[in-house]
Amino acid sequence: MPQENSDWRARLEKILRLEQSTGYRDAAVTCGLEAFLRDHLPELLPRAEGYSAAGENDRRHAVERLLQVLSPPSVAKRHPLEVPRIDLDAPITEADGVGTKRASLLAKLGIETIEDLILYFPRRLEDRTRFVSIGSVRMGESVCIRGEVAAVSQQRLRRGMNLVKAAVGDGTGFLYGVWFNQPWIAKQLNRGDAIDLFGRIERSRRELQMNSPVWEPAGTGIEIGRWVPVYPATEGVTDRAIRALIHRNLDACLPSMVELLPRAVREAQGHVPRRAAVEAIHRPADAGAFEQARQALAFEELTLLQLGLLGTAREAPGRERSSDGSLVSSFHATLPFQLTSAQRAALVEMRDDLARPTRMMRLLQGDVGSGKTLVALSAALRVIDAGFQVAFMVPTEILAEQHAATFERLLADLPVTVRLLTGASKGKAAIRSGIEDGEVDLLVGTHALIQDEVSFRDLGLVIVDEQHRFGVVQRSRIEEKGDRVDVLVMSATPIPRTITLTLYGEFDVSVLDELPLGERAIETRWVEEKQREDVYRWVGGFLDAGRKGYVVLPLVSESEKLAIKAAVQVADELAEKFPSRGIGLIHGRLSSKEKADAMRAFVVGEARLLVATTVIEVGIDVPDADFIVIEHADRFGLSQLHQLRGRIGRAGQPSECIVIADATTEEATQRLRAFETHDDGFRLSEEDLRIRGPGDLLGTQQHGYISRLRAVDLMRDLNLMREARSAARRILERGPVPPDMGAEIERRYGEMIRFLRV
Ligand code: ADP
Ligand code: MG
Repeated sequence: MPQENSDWRARLEKILRLEQSTGYRDAAVTCGLEAFLRDHLPELLPRAEGYSAAGENDRRHAVERLLQVLSPPSVAKRHPLEVPRIDLDAPITEADGVGTKRASLLAKLGIETIEDLILYFPRRLEDRTRFVSIGSVRMGESVCIRGEVAAVSQQRLRRGMNLVKAAVGDGTGFLYGVWFNQPWIAKQLNRGDAIDLFGRIERSRRELQMNSPVWEPAGTGIEIGRWVPVYPATEGVTDRAIRALIHRNLDACLPSMVELLPRAVREAQGHVPRRAAVEAIHRPADAGAFEQARQALAFEELTLLQLGLLGTAREAPGRERSSDGSLVSSFHATLPFQLTSAQRAALVEMRDDLARPTRMMRLLQGDVGSGKTLVALSAALRVIDAGFQVAFMVPTEILAEQHAATFERLLADLPVTVRLLTGASKGKAAIRSGIEDGEVDLLVGTHALIQDEVSFRDLGLVIVDEQHRFGVVQRSRIEEKGDRVDVLVMSATPIPRTITLTLYGEFDVSVLDELPLGERAIETRWVEEKQREDVYRWVGGFLDAGRKGYVVLPLVSESEKLAIKAAVQVADELAEKFPSRGIGLIHGRLSSKEKADAMRAFVVGEARLLVATTVIEVGIDVPDADFIVIEHADRFGLSQLHQLRGRIGRAGQPSECIVIADATTEEATQRLRAFETHDDGFRLSEEDLRIRGPGDLLGTQQHGYISRLRAVDLMRDLNLMREARSAARRILERGPVPPDMGAEIERRYGEMIRFLRV
């Protein structure tokens, strides 16, 4: 019975469409299909089952719920109702009120289909709900007025300017709406019209005025008398025009907006249904409803993205690495301090990861000085305890040496063998054989670790410090040196966490959001170039007081040579100024030995001022350094500045950071101000995001992808991101992503996911 088959299928589809957009009870009633369903139930269910197998995940659920509604068969009213279906993918020219001219303007805003329009996201919400009587207005407030047009006049002013002025009265007083160069308003307003106005109350001479107020016929309720979404606009398409367009098309489109996520998932998080959310974005009852709707849509976007990211993640079987944790406990017992609760929480997460037979893929993120190294080392000990080796890869030789020395010191009383391997290491052959036969438990090093000659007996965990300094390729090459190795990457690059979670899609994230020593006592001062001599005088004072610190020079015009020249010059100059105070110099062109010597001299205090290029940016930990001078600070990004500042005050002592820069642009000024004001890396990265936009923070391509998350607020949606991630996990646990959802993910984020996967 092919005829009948397609008949019930069409009807069922209609019910389900409505079911998803209106709630099932309405759907059953309004479709007038309950009798049909009742008659066909025995037949329907197995077929609905077929749908389910085809991956239409919500449908079986829907039919089941319809069944509940329909028994007992008490629904009496029938409204056979044709709900016209709108093809949301249709070009925007099919929308009501859009011709080809307008379509080309809308394209500039990225609106090409009807769905693009309906999902076009407001930038913000404006409260235009408060009506007051003219007699009770206060200067400077933005309010709504309802009144009657008493008179309209038009004047020509100098230089071809035109002024329309309308007197509006409401029985308690009069005020004037004034509009410059919008002569058509004079034609639209007529004496006796009841209108609503919204604007700022001002006084001009003795008259109450609103300058260029928004207006519409009284009670229209699109522009005035409600919370108005304000849309990003462009030349030729005003915010108001977009609002009108959306308003005009929304009702027709809503029924076609189907739920993309399984209902249970959405409900578990308490998010409003998709259709309701889309409606509330454009017609919010209030700011709270808007935010609720935004979150529902952001959750949907993030969940779909996470599904895409997790769904394509390579199969990740791992190995259990269980131990009784005695090595870690003995280690912690030797520490002169308590772990912070953030450190403990991160370690618990990793312990659980390691105990599971799946691969650990974890990103440990924390501001400079949050104690990441210690956490990583503890995780390493757990793996070593379970009988495996650990590789700890860092981006620079200096850092590798520092880590190796620290680890050896910290682990002196424990049965753990630490070795350092860098390009400069002597006796590489012996080190390599120690790695190969398993004598070395913890190998610390640079890129040298990924060389072919290095092979492990049984590598269990790879730790990558300052992850952003390495390419994904380098990371995977070290991972390939073991069998199903676990991975821990660390980053202090303070990019907003939501972005991190997006970009590091395949990683779980632990955040150290607590500084062991509490608020850092670093005072940051920004001075101009002309004060350089003063700065050097201060530095002299610091040195006289027995203090220790850095002077840092940036890469000048991308040339390392010039930076080094500048560093050498400054070091000479300072050595001349402050003879016998020990001025050290370190830069990338020194041999490994020279670098190590310079660091050592600084650590022990033979040199108390270290002039450096940015080689010291990453990770250097000399606890008693307590001042830093950063020259040409305008050439550094905020995150780099913050990294540099992270080199001082590491023992919690009061410290000073002085940045020397002449800000040539407004943006540079804002950046340096932000740096002066905020000491929290994440806060700074958010400021950076605000000042420069995600494009600069991420690179244009990443930015292009991120901006496809329309409803997501990168600054604030960390928790939503987490929810989305676990929701995605739960969905995947139940089975592969249903085809229709998969298609939607591909359509929206396919390119982005492939980019992140590379
Ligand atoms: P990060 O790598 O996150 O910048 P580190 O791991 O280098 O931070 O730690 C910074 C400093 O704080 C180190 O000197 C370290 O020994 C110390 N430290 C780490 N954890 C604690 C803690 N819980 N209490 C006190 N000091 C700590
Ligand atoms: Mg570190």
